[in-house]
Amino acid sequence: MHLEAKNVRALETILAQAGINKDPRTGALVSPVHFSTTYQHPEFGQSTGYDYIRTKNPTRSNLEETLAAIEYAKYALVTSSGMSAISLAFSLFPIGTKILAVRDLYGGSFRWFNQEQAAGRFDFTYVEREEELLAELKQGEYDVVYVETPTNPLMVEYDLPAIIQASHAKGAKVIVDNTFYSPIYQNPIKDGADLVLHSATKYLSGHNDVLAGVVITDQTELYEKLFYNLNTTGAVLSPFDSYLLMRGLKTLALRMERATENAQSVVAFLKSHPQVKEVLYPGKGGMVSFKIADPKKIPDFLNHIKVFTFAESLGGVESLVTYPTTQTHADIPAEVRESYGLTDDLLRLSIGIEHADDLIADLKAALEVCNGL
Ligand SMILES: *Cc1c(COP(=O)(O)O)cnc(C)c1O
Repeated sequence: MHLEAKNVRALETILAQAGINKDPRTGALVSPVHFSTTYQHPEFGQSTGYDYIRTKNPTRSNLEETLAAIEYAKYALVTSSGMSAISLAFSLFPIGTKILAVRDLYGGSFRWFNQEQAAGRFDFTYVEREEELLAELKQGEYDVVYVETPTNPLMVEYDLPAIIQASHAKGAKVIVDNTFYSPIYQNPIKDGADLVLHSATKYLSGHNDVLAGVVITDQTELYEKLFYNLNTTGAVLSPFDSYLLMRGLKTLALRMERATENAQSVVAFLKSHPQVKEVLYPGKGGMVSFKIADPKKIPDFLNHIKVFTFAESLGGVESLVTYPTTQTHADIPAEVRESYGLTDDLLRLSIGIEHADDLIADLKAALEVCNGL
């Protein structure tokens, strides 16, 4: 009943009230953290709904209820990492499943796909542009379409409703990794996606201190299989991390809003700088990539950055700069990377919630080093 009432509310309201008022015994406002691994049966043959922590945990359930609601879905399952969320989603599909995937993906997803392909479990085909994806869908036979949009790190936006419609017309299920935009900017379930994934390590938790993932679906049949598979394989999220993630979620809307404002200011600055060859930004969100005119200066740039931190990952309140070539995308062979535009001159920024002036001053000073000033 509570969930239904919440579903009609705005995203900001659902987020701010993540997991509240779930403990009638004490009236605690904030979700308790339930560490107990096991639960007393009221009587023989009875259950409170909670029996053993791997199967179900009340703190995790509170979190899952919020995550489902913000993606406009009925069900969510949180996992120990984004990667375990991806492997959980794929556990739905039998050996031999044919998957059409966008090439410009998170490097870790690409690595796992390659491993599955090499083991002969799944058959992946990659496309580099939306038109190519739609054309391939028309002529080929695929069981699953896997999309990350905007892409990573080239920041190309794909037309989700069009892709979902074309996929369903061919009987293919659609999986969307919604990590970059978060539900604030993109709601793939509303567009008809079958499964939505997040690395909750990024925007959803938002503070660079939780490793977590989530699989979301509106379809009872898929959820029941996912629930069974997750309980079987066991890559669930701990109660404490579930609590931290819930706490982070409360400010998601505010963080995203500020990250976007900051990113727009940073993009305007970068576009005007002579050391910057190209800026890749889809217009919203906190992720910005840019190409530096002289890639040999990249080590200097990274050594001189002070307000940004040179580190992989994204989506936290602290701004980070990543060099995908040697960090997030190092497992993609150089010729493959270069062929689709992930070149050695590209840096990726995750813009946080600091003051935009400090971020711009930092980039300016580091780019001056590149100028040799
Ligand atoms: C980080 C990331 C993942 C993997 O998530 P982990 O939480 O690091 O396991 C998957 N997809 C995208 C888009 C990511 O950024």
